[in-house]
Amino acid sequence: MVNIVHKFGGSSLSSAERYQAVANIILAHTEAGDCVVVSAAGKTTNTLVKLWQSYQQSDQQAVSDILLQLDNHQRTLIEQLLSPTARYAALNMLEQELALIAQQAQQQSLQEAALLAHGEVWSARLLATYLQQLGLAANDVDARQLFTLNDGQLLHQKNQQACAQLISANSINVVTGFIAADCQANTVTLGRNGSDYSATLLGSYCNAQQVSIWTDTQGVFSTDPRKVKKAIKYSKVCRGQANLLARLGNPVLHAKTLSPLKNTDIKLVVRSSYETEASATEIVKEGYSKAKRFITTLENIDLLRIDQLRGGEIGELSQLIQHSLHHFIENGDTYLLVPASATHQVVSHLQGRANIIESNLHGCAVVAPSNDVAQLFEQATQVLTEQSLTPRFSHQDADYILLLTDQSIDSDVLTLLHDKLINKGQELAIIVAGLGNVGEVFIEQLSQQLNRLQHHFSVKLVGLLRSRAMLFSPSGIALEQWQSQWQNEAIDYQQDDLLTRISELDYEHKVVIDITASEAFSELYPAFVNLDCHLISANKYAGTANNDWYQSLRRNLAERNLLWRYNTSVGAGLPINFALADLQNSGDSITHIEGVFSGTLSWLCSSYDGSVPFSDLVLQAQQMGYTEPDPREDLSGRDMQRKLLILARELGLTLELDDIALTPLMPEQLAQGDWQSFLDNKQLLDDFIAEKAADAAKDNKVLRYTGALTIAEGKVTAKVGLAYATQGDALANLTPGDNIFVINSQWYSDNALVIQGPGAGKEVTAAGVHSDLYWLIQNLK
Ligand code: ADP
Ligand code: ASP
Ligand code: MG
Repeated sequence: MVNIVHKFGGSSLSSAERYQAVANIILAHTEAGDCVVVSAAGKTTNTLVKLWQSYQQSDQQAVSDILLQLDNHQRTLIEQLLSPTARYAALNMLEQELALIAQQAQQQSLQEAALLAHGEVWSARLLATYLQQLGLAANDVDARQLFTLNDGQLLHQKNQQACAQLISANSINVVTGFIAADCQANTVTLGRNGSDYSATLLGSYCNAQQVSIWTDTQGVFSTDPRKVKKAIKYSKVCRGQANLLARLGNPVLHAKTLSPLKNTDIKLVVRSSYETEASATEIVKEGYSKAKRFITTLENIDLLRIDQLRGGEIGELSQLIQHSLHHFIENGDTYLLVPASATHQVVSHLQGRANIIESNLHGCAVVAPSNDVAQLFEQATQVLTEQSLTPRFSHQDADYILLLTDQSIDSDVLTLLHDKLINKGQELAIIVAGLGNVGEVFIEQLSQQLNRLQHHFSVKLVGLLRSRAMLFSPSGIALEQWQSQWQNEAIDYQQDDLLTRISELDYEHKVVIDITASEAFSELYPAFVNLDCHLISANKYAGTANNDWYQSLRRNLAERNLLWRYNTSVGAGLPINFALADLQNSGDSITHIEGVFSGTLSWLCSSYDGSVPFSDLVLQAQQMGYTEPDPREDLSGRDMQRKLLILARELGLTLELDDIALTPLMPEQLAQGDWQSFLDNKQLLDDFIAEKAADAAKDNKVLRYTGALTIAEGKVTAKVGLAYATQGDALANLTPGDNIFVINSQWYSDNALVIQGPGAGKEVTAAGVHSDLYWLIQNLK
């Protein structure tokens, strides 16, 4: 039984390495009985079209040159992929086919469709042989034996039977895209870009559960992501909009792709064969996703007015010219957009019923929810006019607008249009993990904050997680009643379930806000990034993970245009990250950072004056809830070591945790054993501290526990431990419990820049998380 039909476009088969990557995808994602539809490798169809044109122009020289080019291309692929025996047979077959084409060209008996079909035949044969070589049961199937058309109409019953007979249940079926046959067994093609259509046809004939279109982008975006960096990938697009885009000539899906899926539940996804882990776009039935905004560009088209267009004529014409066609009605007249290269064919086919209104135009279409169309029409016209691209012809329809211009819309203008038309009214879904003190305050503050953000952004809280339970509501959790909703609707937390739910969210942007202190949760960050989530973390683990992991996370974020903030992991809400970034961005270079980044250790050291034993202060702090349950966790200095590493990485340094020397705020023997043994030996701690304090006092200094990072002549030293602060200095004057960051740089060399204030506490930490959220939104606008 066919479960999935996979389709790999030419862009996924452009080189031997890409074939290998495709084979790996097949190994991981297919079972015996599945189908793999392939297009011609790379731009082979374009080359074959050129061959046909040269043949028609009787340009013998060009015909032989192009044959040589095809020979070289296929030969290279075969030589790089196949073992000697298989290679010999494949090259032999290729040689015979090319010789036959040359012969037919000479004898004037070449057939266009049969010629174009070679591209897909070659790639299906090569991929099937390569899969066999990898030990997989695979066979190639020529779709001319599966799909028959009579007078342009598919013979569904016959085709279904052919599929039942020829699609093997015991192997991977590698099927040629793009081609079919007529009742006389002549080759016909399904139109340029038609392999998508082959895949959904096959899916419907075989009752598959899913059709996966693997291409060179991660899915369907708001506009061509190759031209606009900030294009938004949509996780869901409804069939109607996908179809409209295709008719307007957008290449990501062929115009007929959706038609075989009508009245079926076959799932259709568009995903990347280059980044297989990335989340995909699912093309869903109407009503299963809200309408989105898209911009698609048009190049070299003519505008024709047609008299008395007959039913079915558009289909005939698009079959004739091998290209999707779009028609519309304006003031009672029917207009048709035709690729300029095909106008001649269309005009002669329509025998006097077509008038060319405008020729060789470019432009764009904006597809959008009906309610937005009128406003977008105004805005788009204004942007184009400002760019001296005043539209020559425009049309406003129910769910799109069309603006035709003399010059083409380059990627700069497309970016301007995108900024103006698409990145407005953006949506952000928030998932908050960790509902402890800080998490609860964060959510309390959120409703007020949302009113402020709402002007530019539609922000919704869609998920809440604790270690054992989670609440998910894709349309938004009511902030005033989140606690009762949690009581009634929270379900068991399951990691896979969480990832599935995030992948199903239909929002332009998503952010996971990690307010947990869980290392295990931080290990999910790469999975969140693969689901296109931005990250905000108060959790320190990811920022201090080993460099390889950290750098690869950063790279993945950058590749996907995703942002990560973890301002509150050091100094809670204090703007230390802003200060460091700002100094560096303004050309300063930081030479030294020293400070106290632990509220607990700050309180202990600043409160100690020798009048009360240090261990009494520790126990007092424990009772007030200022410490970890076992205060030695604080005294170990490990938390400050992590924070110093985060600061170092903010400065672009590639340190590891172990590169930061660490001396705990207690004698070594107290760090071992249980809490009772600590209490029994607390005198050791008191003696240790008293001795150090006396030592410091000799030079009129006081004890502080600090982290210090020094960059001198390219050399970095970092340490966390006891330090003696000179009376009167900022470090010595520290208010007990406060954090402090003393920064020296080229500009702040003698007189340091000091940031000081509460570096812990639920209100300021929650406020710091809000600061990250605000920053994120500013950067998404
Ligand atoms: P394939 O060879 O896999 O069939 P195509 O070249 O036909 O791939 O289609 C994919 C291309 O479509 C992408 O490389 C991209 O440049 C272009 N494209 C244009 N508009 C969009 C869009 N809105 N979303 C995604 N891709 C788009
Ligand atoms: N190879 C054909 C083309 O280039 C079909 C396809 O790629 O979908 O148009
Ligand atoms: Mg395509």
